[in-house]
Amino acid sequence: MATTTIAQKPQHKIAWAPIIWIGGLHIGALLAFWPAWFSWSGLALCFVLHWVTGGLGICMTYHRLLTHRSFALRPRWLEYFFTILGTCSSEGGPIGWVADHRRHHANSDEEDDTHTPLQGFFWAHMVWWMFYQDETQHSAAYYQKWAPDLYRDPVHRWIEKYHIIFPIAMFAALYALGGMSWLVWGGFVRTVLVLHATWLVNSASHVWGYRSHETRDRSKNLWWVALVTYGEGWHNNHHAFQTSARHGLRWWEIDVTYITIWMMKVCRIAYNIKLVKIPSRRLGLASVGPAE
Ligand SMILES: [Zn+2]
Ligand SMILES: [Zn+2]
Repeated sequence: MATTTIAQKPQHKIAWAPIIWIGGLHIGALLAFWPAWFSWSGLALCFVLHWVTGGLGICMTYHRLLTHRSFALRPRWLEYFFTILGTCSSEGGPIGWVADHRRHHANSDEEDDTHTPLQGFFWAHMVWWMFYQDETQHSAAYYQKWAPDLYRDPVHRWIEKYHIIFPIAMFAALYALGGMSWLVWGGFVRTVLVLHATWLVNSASHVWGYRSHETRDRSKNLWWVALVTYGEGWHNNHHAFQTSARHGLRWWEIDVTYITIWMMKVCRIAYNIKLVKIPSRRLGLASVGPAE
């Protein structure tokens, strides 16, 4: 665990909307303990939609496509389609998400980081999400500062403004098609698992794991986070080479999201894929474990 801490937390107000929404989703997920609302089809949907909304929507689209532009999709409407899948993870609209994440990269583990475990593990994991509102954040000026490319795009601005309708529509469709078991497992449980998987990248991957590259932050490569985030847990590699579409750099650093992008390239819908060439000696372990 890091020994240094940032004593001064930024001044944030409680953001009631995310607290109620995310809290409600967690309460909804607890309904999974009610045996009558279990079904094997609901469990299968939980896994499939976890990949569709978390893997394709957040890891591939919000992160590697929109934030870092490490590849492009053709035709253009595919970018909007996959962005809408991302909104179904209940992690907010694309412009706010991208702005927060670019700010994280610009100030990693420093005073102005959006979320760093140096302000407390659970702050980085989820609490900041609920206390993010201050005078500057999530305003037009904030979006223009950190995500001007997306802010200029009227479709992304529309998705940002109405992002909440998409997860609600997905929940309604699940209930209409499969009743309570599909809503609870494919809706609430799946969303909570995606949320915590994403948050583990912010928290655990800046605390535990090994470092392959000397970066000015405390990012780590952590295999079990990579497993639940389709490759995003190779986070030290990512901080070292932020625009690379591929985060898993050793042969055993399995990166499902990069495999997906590569398959899309074969299908001729993904192009301009950015990769890095690293001399093999740079892939030697720089340090192992949480020690700095
Ligand atoms: Zn990070
Ligand atoms: Zn990133």
